[in-house]
Amino acid sequence: MNHSDSERIAGFLSSQKFKETENINEADLVIFNTCGVRQMAEDRIYGQIHNLRIRNQKSGIKNQESRIKIILTGCLANRPDVQKRLKNKVDLFFPINEFEKFEKFVIEKFENLLKIVNCKLKIPAYPELTTRKNNTSYFSITPKYSDKFQAGVPIMTGCNNFCAYCVVPNARGREVSRPTEDIISEIKELVKNGTRHIILLGQNVNSYRGSDKNSSAEEEDKHTNFPQLLKKINAIPGKFWISFVSNHPKDVTDEMIEVVAKCKKVCENFHLPIQAGNDAVLRNMNRKYTAKEYLKIMRKIKSAFKKHKPAVPFSITSDIIVGFPGETKKQFEDSAEVMRKAKFDMVFFGKFSPRPETAAWKMKDNVSKMEKERRANYLNEILKKTCFENNKKYVGKTLEVLIENKKDENYFGKTRTMKNVKIVPNFHSDKTSESKNLIGKIIKVKITKANIWNLEAIIK
Ligand code: SF4
Repeated sequence: MNHSDSERIAGFLSSQKFKETENINEADLVIFNTCGVRQMAEDRIYGQIHNLRIRNQKSGIKNQESRIKIILTGCLANRPDVQKRLKNKVDLFFPINEFEKFEKFVIEKFENLLKIVNCKLKIPAYPELTTRKNNTSYFSITPKYSDKFQAGVPIMTGCNNFCAYCVVPNARGREVSRPTEDIISEIKELVKNGTRHIILLGQNVNSYRGSDKNSSAEEEDKHTNFPQLLKKINAIPGKFWISFVSNHPKDVTDEMIEVVAKCKKVCENFHLPIQAGNDAVLRNMNRKYTAKEYLKIMRKIKSAFKKHKPAVPFSITSDIIVGFPGETKKQFEDSAEVMRKAKFDMVFFGKFSPRPETAAWKMKDNVSKMEKERRANYLNEILKKTCFENNKKYVGKTLEVLIENKKDENYFGKTRTMKNVKIVPNFHSDKTSESKNLIGKIIKVKITKANIWNLEAIIK
């Protein structure tokens, strides 16, 4: 989501005569789009800003007006403790969901900078800004996409769930859905320009409630829900894949499962974060489901894929936090047990890190660093086994792969189940020699080998 926001900020500034530079030393303005999910990400930002300021001092720039200007946005921009800590180092703290104020802030703060780039900053007028109570105006900015073949398309921002460990509801505010027609027109444009993989983004996509941009307040009740949105996107002509992140198990409905499994363009991958396998820990995390309920949803997903797409593989991936405050060794063992039962294709492990302004901040972080490390490694060993077992089922199958890059003679891409594939040259096939321009194409490959974290294939 932050990556996608950065593309919009870059898109806006590029449209206003600013030029992007790879060389930070020649920049007049640096924008840090921050992540506050873990302490490590936060520390990295402090380090980078500090280094930038030191470099400024060393280069002898004394004049306040001519030194590099720093804007900080993203998760940390709203946090009073961060603002206090970086008060003399950052010129502007700027919440991304207040983008409509960007112009005003920047003009007020950086008048001289605007003169340097000879630019009269102008945010385009978004009619919905004045008529709608929810502000998703910055979504209307044309992004500067960093990848030509796959693009993240935000469908909503914010979250209402307040999981005990999570900064998002404070950092991004409550859930706001983007108007359906905006999403559809962005995707149509992307597909027209050759994008092959559309990733729908939101903190909790399955609580999407989009309305028509021009609808009146009374009509706002007639919203489009997430399965309906998927169907509308699936109906857009062209060859492309659709996937989505992330969603909350408590909001997965039977309708959603059916639509995901039925729609041809929707990839056969379901990312379903469980976070813990013990009910007491889940309760403390404020996740609002039990391990049993989670596994039931998973079974439904599996049987829907088997029913509607019996010929192709599917994958289920998840997130797990280890060492949540109070998690005992016995409770942790329940997470291991769920992992054995669920046989995930991939799990992203997080070692609990206390975050200010969350409910868990006040809890005692009583699992040691070493123990968190041990638990993550333990689960990773289970994952290796299930991943390898699942991957072995791919051998011999012919599948679609989106080619992402090439190194030496090999191409690298991913399947619709989000498995990484290394495509080795097939010297018996003419297509290998023709395959100079495969990057960004969806091609058919035959899987020849399964490894733990990836597959190997030849071009069919
Ligand atoms: S649902 Fe996701 S984004 Fe929302 S509070 Fe929970 S973890 Fe954070």
